[in-house]
Amino acid sequence: MFIRNGELVIILGVKQYLKLKFFKSLRFYLILLLMIVGIIPSVIMKAMVLENYEKRAVDVRTAEIQNQCTVLCEQLINSHYQEQGISEIIRKELIQLSDIYNGRIMVIDDEMRVIFDTYYSEVGKYIVSGDVVKSYRGQVVSQYNSEKKYIEIALPIEDKDEGIGVMVVSVSTDAIAATMTLLNKKVNIFQIVLILIVIVLAIILGSIMVRPFEKITRTISNLTEGYDEDLDVYTYEETALISDAFNRMIRKQRTLDKSRQEFVSNVSHELKTPLTAMKVLSDSLLMQEDVPVELYKEFMQDLSGEIERENKIINDLLELVKMDKTAASLNVRSENINELVEQTLKRLQPIAAASNIEVLFKSYRPVTAEVDEVKLSLALINLVENAIKYNKENGWVHVTLNADHKNFFIEIADSGIGISQEDTEHIFERFYRVDKSHSREIGGTGLGLSIARNIIVMHRGAIKVFSQLGEGTTFSVRIPVNYVA
Ligand code: ADP
Repeated sequence: MFIRNGELVIILGVKQYLKLKFFKSLRFYLILLLMIVGIIPSVIMKAMVLENYEKRAVDVRTAEIQNQCTVLCEQLINSHYQEQGISEIIRKELIQLSDIYNGRIMVIDDEMRVIFDTYYSEVGKYIVSGDVVKSYRGQVVSQYNSEKKYIEIALPIEDKDEGIGVMVVSVSTDAIAATMTLLNKKVNIFQIVLILIVIVLAIILGSIMVRPFEKITRTISNLTEGYDEDLDVYTYEETALISDAFNRMIRKQRTLDKSRQEFVSNVSHELKTPLTAMKVLSDSLLMQEDVPVELYKEFMQDLSGEIERENKIINDLLELVKMDKTAASLNVRSENINELVEQTLKRLQPIAAASNIEVLFKSYRPVTAEVDEVKLSLALINLVENAIKYNKENGWVHVTLNADHKNFFIEIADSGIGISQEDTEHIFERFYRVDKSHSREIGGTGLGLSIARNIIVMHRGAIKVFSQLGEGTTFSVRIPVNYVA
C-alpha cells in the first residue's frame, strides 16, 4: 500500500485481485440474487410454521381444559359446594385433571376465599387478582405465558343460589414446548438442505445466465487478435441488441479499413506515376551522348510538367488531410456570396479564355450567408474549373445563385463532355477519374470533387450532379444560410 498522486494505492496479490473481481462480477450478483430469492421465503416460512403451530396447540389445549372445567363447575354448582363443601368425588376429579395436565386447580367462593387448592398451600387465603375479578363478573379469562410455559384460565362458577365463585386453573405447556423444539430441529434440517440446494442451483444458474456475456467477451478478444468474425449472441434481447450494434460497428469499421487501404494504395500509385515518368525522362537523357539542346529543352519541359503534377497531387492531398483534421473548426463568418462567386469566376477567367469558353454569372438576389470564405471559394474553384476543363472548344459555363429563407443554391452548368450515369455515382470518390488519360492530360488529380464535397458537407450542405453524356453537366449545391454548428 502506498500513496501515488495523492491516491491510496493498494497492491493486491493475484489471488486477492481475482477474488475482488469475482465480487464485482455479474455472476456474483446473479448468484446472490438467486440465493436471496430462494432462501428468504424459506426463513419466513419457518418462522410462520412454528408460530402457527404454537398458537394452534395453545388454543386447542385451552379449549380442552375449558370444556372439562365447565363440566366440573356444573358439578360443583349441583353439589352446593359453598354450603356443603366440595364432595370427595369432585375433589378427586379436580386432582385427576390437574395431574393430567401437570397443573394446579383452585376453587374460590363468593367471598374471594380459596376453598380448594390442589397444592393445598393457598386454602383459606383470599385472592384478588385482575383475572379473578373479571371472572366474578361472568367472564372466562385465559392467558398464555410462553416464557414461563403455562396457560392460566379463570372461569366463573355461576351458582344462582349461593353466589358466584371462580375456578382458577393453570396448566404447564411443557409438552407443547417439547414438540416445538422437535419441530424446530426438523425444520432446521429441512432448511439447511433447502439452502444447500438453492446455493448449488444459484451457482449453476448464475454461470449459465452469464455465459452469453462470456461469449461476447471471447468474440471481441478474438477480433482484437485478428480473427474476423461476427458477434451472434442472440440468447437474450439485450445480447441480441449488443450483437446487432456491434456487427453494425464492425461492418462500418471494415468499410473504413477497406477505403483507407484503397486510399493508401491509390496515393502511392498516384505519387509514383509522375516519379516514374521523371525517372524515364532523366535516364533517357543520361544514356544519350551529345544530346542536342532542343531535345534537352523538350525533355526538361516534360520533367517540369511531371514535377508540377506531383506538386498538385501533394497539395490536393494536404488539403484533404487538413480538412479531415479540422473538420469541426470552420472559420465561419457572414459573407456576401454574390461577391464570393464573382471573385472566384474572375480568378478562373484566364483558363476559360484559353479555351474560348464563355463564363456567365446570373444572380437572382443578393445573398449573405455564414460560410468559411476560403474553403467555399476552393470548392467553387474546383467545380467551375472542372466545368471549364471538361468542356468543348467555344463552349459555355453558366453559374447561377439563388436563395430562400433557409438555404442558398449555386448551380454550375456546362456545355461539356458530360458524364455517364455509371460514372456519376463515383466521381466524388478520391482519385476517381472518368477518363484517366484525358484527365491526366488536362491536369486532373481525381481529388477536386472529393475536396469540394467535403467542404460543402462541412457547411451542412449537399451537392448533386445531373449529366448527359456528350451534352453537358450541372452541379447543384445547397448550403444553409445560417451555419449550424
Ligand atoms: P480531376 O482532378 O480529375 O478533375 P475531380 O475529382 O475534380 O478530379 O473530378 C473527377 C472526375 O469527374 C474527373 O476526372 C472527370 O472525369 C469528371 N468530371 C468532373 N467534373 C466534370 C464536368 N463538369 N464535366 C465532365 N466530367 C467531369
